[in-house]
Amino acid sequence: MIETRSLTKRYGRVTAVDELSFTVAPGHVTGFLGPNGAGKSTTMRMILGLDRPDGGEALVDGRRYTAIRRPAHVLGALLDATALQPGRSGRAHLRAVAAANGIGAARVAEVLDRVGLTGAARRPASAYSLGMKQRLGIAQALLGDPGVLMFDEPVNGLDPEGVRWIRGLLRDLAAEGRTVLVSSHLMTEMALTAERLLVIGRGKLIADTTVAALTAGG
Ligand code: ADP
Ligand code: ADP
Repeated sequence: MIETRSLTKRYGRVTAVDELSFTVAPGHVTGFLGPNGAGKSTTMRMILGLDRPDGGEALVDGRRYTAIRRPAHVLGALLDATALQPGRSGRAHLRAVAAANGIGAARVAEVLDRVGLTGAARRPASAYSLGMKQRLGIAQALLGDPGVLMFDEPVNGLDPEGVRWIRGLLRDLAAEGRTVLVSSHLMTEMALTAERLLVIGRGKLIADTTVAALTAGG
C-alpha cells in the first residue's frame, strides 16, 4: 500500500505537489497520469524518502520510507536512468546493488531471467540499448522482491515491443498481489496499462477513477 496525506512540496514559488491525498492498493496497476511538470516525479521521490515534504506525509505499508532505512523488500522503484559504472556488466551491477542490500547472487540470476537479460548479463551494461537499460533498472527494482513498486515514465523512448513488454510485466507484477504505481503523460498508454487512474495537474489531484469508467460510453 502507498498512502499520501496532504502531501505538499514547494520549490520557491512553485508548489510542485499541492495537498495531494491518495491511496494505491495492491492487485492492479495504478496509473499516475499528468502532463510534464504536473508533480509526478516529485511525489514519487517523496514516497521514496528522497525528497522531504513541506507538508503532509507519504506512507508505504503504513510507515514512512525515509532516507535512513530503505528496505529493498518493501519498495522497489525505477526513477531516472540507472547509474552505471563504465565497463561493468549487467550482472556485476546487480550483484553490487544486491550485496549492498544483503541480497544473495542467486536472486540476481532470478531477476535477470525475469527481465530477459540472462543472455546479455556478462556484457557491459553501459553499452546496452535503452530498452535493455530499462530492463536492468527494473531488475534492480525487483531484487528485494518488494511488495510495492513504482515506475516513473518507464516506457519513454522505447520501441513498441519494449512498451508492450513493460506493460505485460507491470500487469503480471500487480496480478502477483503487489502494489504497482506507474507514471505517464500519455492517456493512451495508461488506458492500456492501468486499471485505476490517479490524474494529477499542477500538483493537485484532478481525478481518482478507473479506466473502465473513463472508456465506458455515456
Ligand atoms: P512530472 O514528474 O509530473 O513531470 P515534476 O515532479 O518533475 O513533474 O515537477 C513538478 C514541478 O516541480 C515542475 O514545475 C518542476 O519544474 C518543479 N521541480 C521539480 N523538481 C525541482 C527542483 N529540484 N527544483 C526546482 N523545481 C523543481
Ligand atoms: P534526514 O534528513 O535525517 O536524512 P529524512 O530526510 O528522512 O531524514 O527526514 C527528515 C524529516 O523529513 C522527517 O523527520 C520528517 O519530518 C520529514 N519526512 C521525511 N520523509 C517523510 C514522509 N514520507 N512523510 C512525511 N514527512 C517526512
